[in-house]
This record gives sequence, structure tokens and C-alpha cells, in this order.
Amino acid sequence: QAHLDRIAAVDGDVHAFLHVSDHALEVAADIDRRRADGEQLHELAGVPLAVKDVLVTTDMPSTSGSRILEGYMSPYDATVVARSRAAGLVPLGKTNMDEFAMGSSTEFSAYGPTRNPWDLDRIPGGSGGGSAAAVAAFEAPLALGSDTGGSIRQPAHVTGTVGVKPTYGGVSRYGAIALASSLDQVGPVTRTVLDAGLLHDVIGGYDANDSTSLSDAWPSFAAAAREGATGQVLKGLKVGVVRELDGTGFQSGVAASFRAALAAMEAQGAEIVEISAPHFEYGVAAYYLILPAEASSNLAKFDSVRFGLRVTPQGTPTVENVMAATRDAGFGPEVKRRIILGTYALSAGYYDAYYGSAQKVRTLIQQDFDAAFAQVDVIATPSSPTTAFRLGEKIDDPLQMYLNDITTIPANLAGVPGISIPSGLAEEDGLPVGIQFLAPRARRRSSVPRRRGPR
Ligand code: GLN
Repeated sequence: QAHLDRIAAVDGDVHAFLHVSDHALEVAADIDRRRADGEQLHELAGVPLAVKDVLVTTDMPSTSGSRILEGYMSPYDATVVARSRAAGLVPLGKTNMDEFAMGSSTEFSAYGPTRNPWDLDRIPGGSGGGSAAAVAAFEAPLALGSDTGGSIRQPAHVTGTVGVKPTYGGVSRYGAIALASSLDQVGPVTRTVLDAGLLHDVIGGYDANDSTSLSDAWPSFAAAAREGATGQVLKGLKVGVVRELDGTGFQSGVAASFRAALAAMEAQGAEIVEISAPHFEYGVAAYYLILPAEASSNLAKFDSVRFGLRVTPQGTPTVENVMAATRDAGFGPEVKRRIILGTYALSAGYYDAYYGSAQKVRTLIQQDFDAAFAQVDVIATPSSPTTAFRLGEKIDDPLQMYLNDITTIPANLAGVPGISIPSGLAEEDGLPVGIQFLAPRARRRSSVPRRRGPR
């Protein structure tokens, strides 16, 4: 009830939610009854959860921020939603996002932008700005997001929240409306690292419905977070700082907060090691070929027949005309831009020059990570080059919007896990800044890589 009241009070301004559940209280009351009956419930049972609209739910519409799916009701729950319900979490509503998770500001939502609770004239990040804003504005204690190129970590950075992009294959994407399947991961957005660990434990682990799911037995992320809270884990930890992403050229307050965080870790016994990742600077270019290519293929299923919107065109309603009119009316400008980019990059004459080259760059970035993790336990970078920018500032300049992803994209291209944690406020504008940690990727049939150094 407290969270519903908070939503009623602030969401008119923030617009974090596209839909608020009309039966959350009943679900919560049921949890209360079960607890009163002495049932042993999960520690998160009864805690409200905001769900990014990219995740399908049976009891609330799932639009992925698009007109083409307006009012769409899914016949099944995404695995992460089903597991959350099973643990007793209470889905509170569906959060706003850039259409089909394409964007860094939530301004590309077909349902209007979300605003940053820290300053309503600023963006809450994207694509998962709704989930991050809901958590930052105390409309929800926990949220789920998806991260294909930074859509969990960058919104966490600009809203002062914690965001985790799990290792590729670590969390099921079954029921996550696909953007780019070789990059997508679902993960938690929370206010503390422990909360992120608790939620990750609920949603993660093997799922037969996702063919990329890792079959490993996972350690408890909540236990790791509790261990981390003792402060002991920093002793002897080798933290790599990527020379090419050390904050140089970033907004001054972002760079200063990053350096202060490194100094604080060093004071607690961490060893800061400079490393080089010479191909990270090509990450944005490679990503903006690979992502549109995969997205154009994934979005082909919105054909006016199987899902959502159907527009009857003027003239002869042939299959092709209906499909064209529907996609024209149903998709927004950024989605159309990427479909055109993707189909072009995949076309016969250009495949090797664009898609093929981008895949080679992707391999080089993976090798940069392998070389780095031979030297260090984790890599630290500023989570994003700037604090929250103003609404409208980058909307007409796709390249500026894309360049914003320089820090987050390498993790998706290599499948490594990443977390953005608040590191303070930028001096010049008083807005939140995050520090990003990247760790080695868990691979099939191996356990999570052991950290080096003394325990
Ligand atoms: N800004 C990135 C993009 O527009 C992030 C996408 C994402 O992680 N869903 O593609």
C-alpha cells in the first residue's frame, strides 16, 4: 500500500510506470496469510517488484514501449517473473522503456518519456529508465530490467541506483521480448548491492526454456554481497583500470568520482592496475551493426498477424499492404532507423563488409577482456561518460545518443557480467554517478571463475 500511495503521489511527474497492477494488494495479503499460517517463505516474500515492460506477464499488458503491442496480453509469464512470483515477490506494475529497448533516455517510448526523480528536466537513462526511476523515487524497492548495451547499468548510473547485467546465460530470457539475442540479459535494479544479490538469486540459474542458459550451479550472490559488506574482500583484489576508459574526456565530476572510488578501494587494500583494452573504442561501432542486424530479424515477427496491432490500409488490403501499414503505424522512428540499418548490414552485397567486420571486432574485444582478466580480478570504469542529460538534448542526434554507451557496450559484446554502483554525486551538477565493475564471464560446464588473491 505504501508503494501504491507513493506511485499515486509522484508518478504523474516521474512516469516510471506504464501499468500499475490492480491486484497487488490481494497478492500481498495472500503472502501475509501464508506467513501467519507459519509457512516458510523466501526472504523477499511480500516485497513489491517493478517489472520492465519488455518482460511478458499474464496479468498485465506487455508492450515493450511500442504501439505495435499496445494492450498485448501474454499467455505466459517470463521465467524471471514466474520465479519472482514463486518466491512471493509482488509484481507492482510494468515500467516504461525506450521502444523495444532501443535508446539511452526512455524518450523513445511510444508512451511518453520517464523523468529522472533527481531532476525532472533530465533523463532517467535508458532503455530501462522506468525501472531505475521507480526504484530511485521509492515507488518500488526492487525492479527488473534488461541490458543489451547498458540498459540496466546506465539508468542505474544516472539515478543513483544499483544495476546488474548478469553474465551471458546467467538469467533466462524466456519471455523477454528479444532485442538482440546474442547481447540481451535480464537483471536486477535495486537500491543496494545486497538487494541486487537477493533478486539475482531468485531469477537466475538454469532454465530449459532458454537455449543459452548456463547449466552451472550458481553460488549465492546474496551471500557474496554479505561477504563484501565486511570490507575484507578488497584486500589483495586486483582492480584493472582500462587506460582507454579511465575517465579522461568524461564529464569532470564523473571522472573525479571515479578516481575517489579507486582511492577508497586502494585504502582498503585493493591494488589498482592499469590495463589496456585497445579495441574497446570500436565497441560502439561494432555494436550498432550487430544490434540492428539481430533486432531487424527479431522484429520480423511483428507482421500484423501474430501479435498486436493490425492496420487496414487504404486501397487493396493485400498481406503485404497490411503488414507495411501496420509496421509503419506501429513502430517509432528509432525502431525504423535500426530496422533499416540492420537489413542493410545483412544484405547480400554488404554482409561481409559490415556484419562480418563487426563480428571480428567483437572477437577482438573478447580477447581484450581475456588478456585483462589474466592480469586482474575485476575491471573498473565510470559507468557512463556523463551524468543525466536534459530531455531533448540528444533526441535528434542518434550518434550522440549511441556514443553515450561507450562504457557499457563492451560487456555485452563479450558476455561478461557488470554492475553499476553509486559512487557519489558530481560536484558541478549534484547528480548521481556510478562506478562499473566487470568480471570474467561464467562459461558452460565451469563454475564461476575463482577470484585471485588471498581470501
Ligand atoms: N543504449 C543502448 C541501445 O540503444 C542500450 C540498449 C539496451 O541495453 N537495451 O541500444
